[in-house]
Order: sequence, then C-alpha cells, then structure tokens
Amino acid sequence: MTDNNCIFCKIAGGEIPSATVYEDSDFRVILDLGPASRGHALILPKEHFKDLCELDESVAAKVLPLAGKVGAAMKEVLGCSGFNVVQNNGETAGQTVFHFHVHIIPRYEGGPAMVTWTPGNADSTELAEISDSLKEAMKS
Ligand code: AMP
Ligand code: ZN
Repeated sequence: MTDNNCIFCKIAGGEIPSATVYEDSDFRVILDLGPASRGHALILPKEHFKDLCELDESVAAKVLPLAGKVGAAMKEVLGCSGFNVVQNNGETAGQTVFHFHVHIIPRYEGGPAMVTWTPGNADSTELAEISDSLKEAMKS
C-alpha cells in the first residue's frame, strides 16, 4: 500500500526523482537532501509504513542486511571509516517524515560529533520497575 499524500511513497515509487543509489522490488535507497555528512543515505521501503511499529516483518527482516550493504559500499568508495544507522520513530524522536526510513550516515575521521548523548545514572529500583513493566507489555 502507498499513501498519495506521502513524499517518500512518491520518491520510493520513482514518481519524484531522487539520487538513487540502490533499488529492488522492496526498497529504494536515496541520498538525503539535508545530509548530516557526505553521502548520507536513506533506505525507503516502497510500501507505506508510518514507523517501525507498523513495519511489516518480512520487510523489516531485509532492512538491516541492506543497511550493512550500503554502509560497506560507503566505506569502499566514500572514504568514511564508519557509519551510523539511525531510525527515528515519532516527533519527539526527531521523525519528520512519517514513512518508515533508515538513515545511513557515513562517519569520517575528524568529523563532527553526532548521534551522541550524555549518559545518565541508572537507579536499580527504577531499572527493576521499568524492566518489569516492559516485560509485561512485551507479552501482548
Ligand atoms: P527523519 O527526521 O528521521 O524523519 O528524516 C527525514 C529525512 O528526510 C531528513 O534527513 C531530511 O533531510 C530528508 N528528506 C526530506 N525530504 C527529502 C527529499 N525530498 N529527498 C531526500 N531527502 C529528504
Ligand atoms: Zn509513504
């Protein structure tokens, strides 16, 4: 299923042109128009899923292998020494386009810090409470 009002559906389907680096029957991989670093790519499923929670499992199973393939190609030809795989779900997590996608961000020696956070402190009581409630929710 695609969504007529979704820009990534249109890009993934080839209706809107993009700098495509890979395409198969399930995915199109394009270069991000607002790159975090040189070569920043996006994996777009051709089918419309709002986010990871809605993603079809058969599509999901193909995403990480494809991300690895894109990252390996980046290391080979772009000269990056690593890459981040980032996937945002929901506005608070920074999702701006509500069609599931995965960012592959090449990382270069001496490049700026990104995809980083300040570690907090874990309280053992709180960890136990959280793990108990999540464990329960994961059963359903
Ligand atoms: P997110 O914030 O995870 O939803 O990521 C959306 C990404 O899509 C951002 O990095 C944007 O720069 C990128 N983006 C938005 N529109 C386009 C477009 N038409 N072509 C390529 N990248 C886009
Ligand atoms: Zn879409």
